Amino acid sequence: MNRRILSVLVFLFATLASALPCFAWNDRGHMIVAYIAYKQLNSHARERVDALLKLNPSYSDWVATIDKEVPNASQEDKNLMIFMLAATWPDKIKGDKAYKSDGSDRGNRPDGSPDPARNTGYDDFLMHKYWHFIDTPFSTDGTALPAIPIPNAQERIGVFRTTLASNSPDSLKSYDLVWLIHIVGDIHQPLHTTTRVSSAEPQGDAGGNTVKLSCTKCELHFFWDDLLGTNNDLKTVKKAARKIPKADRSLVSKMDEQIWVSEGYQTAKQFVYVTPVEAGSGPFTLTPAYKKTAGKVAKQRVALAGARLAKLFNDELK
Ligand SMILES: [Zn+2]
Repeated sequence: MNRRILSVLVFLFATLASALPCFAWNDRGHMIVAYIAYKQLNSHARERVDALLKLNPSYSDWVATIDKEVPNASQEDKNLMIFMLAATWPDKIKGDKAYKSDGSDRGNRPDGSPDPARNTGYDDFLMHKYWHFIDTPFSTDGTALPAIPIPNAQERIGVFRTTLASNSPDSLKSYDLVWLIHIVGDIHQPLHTTTRVSSAEPQGDAGGNTVKLSCTKCELHFFWDDLLGTNNDLKTVKKAARKIPKADRSLVSKMDEQIWVSEGYQTAKQFVYVTPVEAGSGPFTLTPAYKKTAGKVAKQRVALAGARLAKLFNDELK
């Protein structure tokens, strides 16, 4: 191949790769959060979430997945797995042609969306990718911090909690419930609450998406997304979820979503953006010690996300 064409292709590929949307956690991580939460739901909350999830347009697909992967599961086990699959729905619509990517920066910013703060339920076919995170900025070199766009994950959690505690129709509660299962998980991934700003990247590093690691298909953001493994088979996810150590009860009782976000931000500064992840876009080579600590932190974060999600539904879902 002509070298000039080759270099253009390499450039295009690199540009596309760096602009990939962030997913975090991956499906497995979200399903682990959901497993932990469902096990801690009281009987009233279980009954309500089981009924509300039946209204989701993907319900029959979830049932088919369960029948295929875990035939002969008990009804209780099926309900648990429906809840786990529901946790991935806000990511699944990103690959569904019926849904429209709205906003700017490949859908990652709300400005430009026809209605970024809409909350009308399943008649809304906007992807709302910017609902998955809140990038609280910090600067490595004194560069001025950009404003945090609204709506964002923290603001949405507040809106959706209010719906669940209200007398809104179940059709809307179902939509808000599915989003909550997902984004309460998301904001416990430290790179969904934080962005690192510098003079080279005054708008931030998109939650570690532009920070390269010295391996293939490797950005800092993806490394953290995939920390709990990548196998999405329901049986293996359940097995992994059972092994996650229980969350610290004194932390579970902190139920203000603003605290969850500032915790995530502190966690990012303490455990994510630390040696060997230096200033700049890398590539950096992670050490075994960094990876080991990261794995431990990820488990603590999903345990906490699951326990808080359960408490939220137990205390607030009407
Ligand atoms: Zn997400």
